[in-house]
Amino acid sequence: MSPPETVCFVCPACTRSIEVTESVREALIESGCVICGTDVDDDAFDQESATSREDGVANAEHKRA
Ligand SMILES: [Zn+2]
Repeated sequence: MSPPETVCFVCPACTRSIEVTESVREALIESGCVICGTDVDDDAFDQESATSREDGVANAEHKRA
């Protein structure tokens, strides 16, 4: 059994970041941030982009070294 797919939620209002599953993501879009209650949309969720951004940093540091 593989673990559920998770996405990183970063609230645009309170800037808290939480790892959430697909179903929690839909709940957040539906009812807003669990911490501050601000309405959130798809932009507040990082999927593949978080990983590729980290790779970019790692590559840059490798080149410098
Ligand atoms: Zn919030």
